[in-house]
Amino acid sequence: MDSKKILIVTMLLVLVFNIAGPIQVSHAAALDSVIGTLAASTVSSTNSGASGGSDVFSKLFSLLFDKILGPILNIFGGGKAATILPENPVKVTPLPPGDGTTGVVDSGVLRGKVVVVDPGHGGSNPGAVANSTRETDNNLAVSLKLRDKLTKAGARVIMTRDSDRTVAPEGSSLGQELAARVNIAEANNADIFVSVHSNSNPDPSIYGTMTFYPSGKSSKLALEVQNSIIRETGAVDKGTSSATFYVLRNTSMPSILVEMGFVTNASEASRLQEDNYRNKIAQGIFNGVVKYFNN
Ligand SMILES: [Zn+2]
Repeated sequence: MDSKKILIVTMLLVLVFNIAGPIQVSHAAALDSVIGTLAASTVSSTNSGASGGSDVFSKLFSLLFDKILGPILNIFGGGKAATILPENPVKVTPLPPGDGTTGVVDSGVLRGKVVVVDPGHGGSNPGAVANSTRETDNNLAVSLKLRDKLTKAGARVIMTRDSDRTVAPEGSSLGQELAARVNIAEANNADIFVSVHSNSNPDPSIYGTMTFYPSGKSSKLALEVQNSIIRETGAVDKGTSSATFYVLRNTSMPSILVEMGFVTNASEASRLQEDNYRNKIAQGIFNGVVKYFNN
């Protein structure tokens, strides 16, 4: 075979395995998010570029140029592509101070990113209360750990609250309280908005972790964070879903709402109160955010 034939055959193989493969083997939720991502670019022009359908094309191009043309040009002595000069060594970004958990390859992508972390509820509104734990306490504890991890990795983190209080002045309406959280994200031009909650259900046997995103955008951020939390915690994976929560609907940047677990389930409630388990959730969210910005 000459080099042209090798090029064409390689391109076809890579296209089949990298593009058709993952979609075919995806479960329903992942397929839904792929469709959502594709639809997003045609539905909304105000959509953030980070989750738009143009991703597919830029990935396709970088695949063709980085993975196929580059190596082949090198193999056949074609030329300039992918030549590393000795005076231009590849930069290696150091890992953030680790805490023994896995899954992060490179957090350099967080440098300078503005991340708004929103611990749900607080003050006069404790959120779900069951099994002697309050949602607001779990939300805040995990959010503070998440703040520290993101900050160490170079992100600019803005908390909507960092103590047990409401964000709007006490006595404000629920609408004003939620608007205050959104306003913080908008006023600071956040790159992403991450709201942290604990779930509840009248049926105490229900447990598991789920992540919500606003319809038509942010599904990629939600999926990366959800998968990374499950990898860290081993919790039951209740998947990702679009939702119309106020803070998701009204933030212009990619936004997600993590429901870490159910305080109404006795065993999950007790795990949510463990420092070690809270750290795993925070690490999972952190890893997912890194992966999101890495793509
Ligand atoms: Zn909540």
